[in-house]
Amino acid sequence: MPATPAWPPQSAPRLYIDASLAEGAVVPLDGNPAHYLISVMRVKDGDAVLLFDNRTGEWAAEARDIRKRDLALHIVRQTKTLEAVPDFWLCVAPIKKGRIDLVAEKACELGVAKLQPVLTRRAVVDKLNLSRLRAHLVEAAEQCGRTALPELADMVKLPDLLKNWPVGRHLFFADERGGAPMAEMLATCKGPAAFLIGPEGGFDDEERAAIRAHTAAVAVSLGPRILRAETAAIAATAIWMAQSGDWT
Ligand code: SAM
Repeated sequence: MPATPAWPPQSAPRLYIDASLAEGAVVPLDGNPAHYLISVMRVKDGDAVLLFDNRTGEWAAEARDIRKRDLALHIVRQTKTLEAVPDFWLCVAPIKKGRIDLVAEKACELGVAKLQPVLTRRAVVDKLNLSRLRAHLVEAAEQCGRTALPELADMVKLPDLLKNWPVGRHLFFADERGGAPMAEMLATCKGPAAFLIGPEGGFDDEERAAIRAHTAAVAVSLGPRILRAETAAIAATAIWMAQSGDWT
């Protein structure tokens, strides 16, 4: 094992591994992750690679036995424990492909614990490719240094989301027709929270009334302009993180 305090270097590639990691373990790698390390990152024998498993934290490993399509990663030591992610869910109506991918990526970077797709009546998209979305979450977590992946929930219909809403979690409802000033509401409503963002077409009147009638709901405004759904999702998450999350 390299003895310098600068090991592993900050530039070491970082990968999510779907298996419990531990000191001394050897992780054989092939397929896309191996291609990324060998052909894209040009990893050489003895180079450091950072691994995280969404279970135990982050580990530094050494690349060995590098061949054309596979290699072995020998875990040397733990570099981070599993992080405690702020208790914030982002509930979003499905929107078009590139835009929902952007929401997933930014939600992960900003630190959300869970991404909850919610089907609403005016959604122009009624299906989501969850495995593609999950790949975006993993890639964003690899890039931003998260040790815990955001949970990606199956899509639920809005009435079911409201019916099964957990006691004690604030449901901030981003209502484009107006609501309370966000800063004021965030200062008042502390603790587990979620934001609900509508689709391109917004919420219809019945949905709006049902959300507003829910005991956990707090209707908030994101300002005088109508934001695109992805802008609203990213902005709302950033504001919550700055006021109540782990940016402080
Ligand atoms: N077509 C809708 C309209 O013109 O009223 C706009 C929907 S907007 C593109 C998508 C979602 O972003 C909304 O349902 C809402 O959740 C959120 N949003 C956008 N601008 C907002 C604002 N100024 N305040 C609160 N929420 C907003």
